[in-house]
Amino acid sequence: MHIHIIGAGVVGLTTAYYLCKKGHKVTIIEKEHDVACGASFANGGQLSYCFSDPLGKPSLLPKLLNIVLNRDLGIRFNLPPNHNSLKWLKHFAANCTRKKHNQNQLQLAELSLSSMSLLKEMKDHLNLKFDHQRSSKIALFEKEKDFKNEIKYLKLKQNLGNDNRAMSIEEAISLEPAIGTLNNRYAGAIFSESDEAGDTLLFCRGLKDWLIENGTNFHFKTYVKGLKNNNSKVVGLTTDEGFIETEKIIVCGGSSTENIVESPSPITPARGYSLTLPRGKVSFDMSLTLSDQKVLFTKLGKKIRITGFADFFRNNTNDHKRIQELIELAQRVAPDLADYNPVKIDSWSGDRPLTPSSIPFIGPSNLEGVYINSGHGFYGWTLSFASGKIISNYF
Ligand SMILES: Cc1cc2nc3c(=O)[nH]c(=O)nc-3n(C[C@H](O)[C@H](O)[C@H](O)COP(=O)(O)OP(=O)(O)OC[C@H]3O[C@@H](n4cnc5c(N)ncnc54)[C@H](O)[C@@H]3O)c2cc1C
Repeated sequence: MHIHIIGAGVVGLTTAYYLCKKGHKVTIIEKEHDVACGASFANGGQLSYCFSDPLGKPSLLPKLLNIVLNRDLGIRFNLPPNHNSLKWLKHFAANCTRKKHNQNQLQLAELSLSSMSLLKEMKDHLNLKFDHQRSSKIALFEKEKDFKNEIKYLKLKQNLGNDNRAMSIEEAISLEPAIGTLNNRYAGAIFSESDEAGDTLLFCRGLKDWLIENGTNFHFKTYVKGLKNNNSKVVGLTTDEGFIETEKIIVCGGSSTENIVESPSPITPARGYSLTLPRGKVSFDMSLTLSDQKVLFTKLGKKIRITGFADFFRNNTNDHKRIQELIELAQRVAPDLADYNPVKIDSWSGDRPLTPSSIPFIGPSNLEGVYINSGHGFYGWTLSFASGKIISNYF
């Protein structure tokens, strides 16, 4: 079967890999000049198999007023929202109940855990080089209440094979001494031993080479304007380079997915920011998450990647200001984990494609012949292996 994929981010590429392995012919259409120019470019690099957490949760509700008034450093909602944002917010609010949060936690945990063995299989098959390391991860919690809440979910997740462990800060410091140099006080930590890290951009470039060697066509600098259908069945796609006839399409358009096809689970961009810096005075091996601010520190080869924040409905967000805030926060909390004074700070921002439940939509759209693999939110690099495999099973 000949399948067209829209989008050459990490999700489009892993989707292509599983289709290729099944013997399908694949063509990828991408508006940019290369792979991974969207949200996959300079993300946190963490493969969070065991620590993936839906954004919508009951403990977020008391913070909503601060979020809306832009007083929360980690999350911002830029109001007033438009019609689409309001629709997304309504569904998001429904996902903040304890019952929905429990369901979403488990679904996300299942997907991310299955990615762990899938990436191992893929690595054995392809021999890709992407600074991949079994780094483990420690998530730190400032508030006792948030830490205790997290512990409640541990048992549920452990039943799925997740090896997360709650521990005191003293124990966390004994595992990763660099935590002792942080300037914040923490109530406790969750240790995810199996979590890994790697450079998503290097991974995507390596996978592109393998896909080309194995017969996948790439049409770069080709913008998909819309889909053409006949009696609710797709017959092709219109692009700025002309019409392409096709009866099978998978939309992996990240945060722009809904510009191409309506998703049964709405997808909104949640903008995040990243810094890539030289190493600091204190070296660290484990990936670290400051849970209260949603900021991650990852060692990627010789560099330190710091990522954070989630800005929604950002019609008037100033990227430069948020990057500055991220630098100031990281420098205040972790002054020695990176060198914050290189000649030029390498910074970037990207839009995470987020559904209200934080679970990606993987399956058929309402238009016959068109499928969607999108909405991977905060964990798209981690979940891409499981979701690529799942969508390939429709073909
Ligand atoms: C700051 C930050 C930190 C993150 N940290 C992590 C992390 O540590 N671990 C983790 O697992 N995940 C992380 N993520 C999330 C992860 O990066 C994303 O979920 C993932 O990259 C989404 O991949 P994607 O392929 O769906 O989207 P994208 O990478 O955005 O790819 C979509 C592609 O579709 C193309 N496209 C869109 N519309 C069209 C069109 N009309 N025509 C042609 N092409 C089109 C775009 O150009 C783009 O290349 C982070 C994200 C951010 C922003």
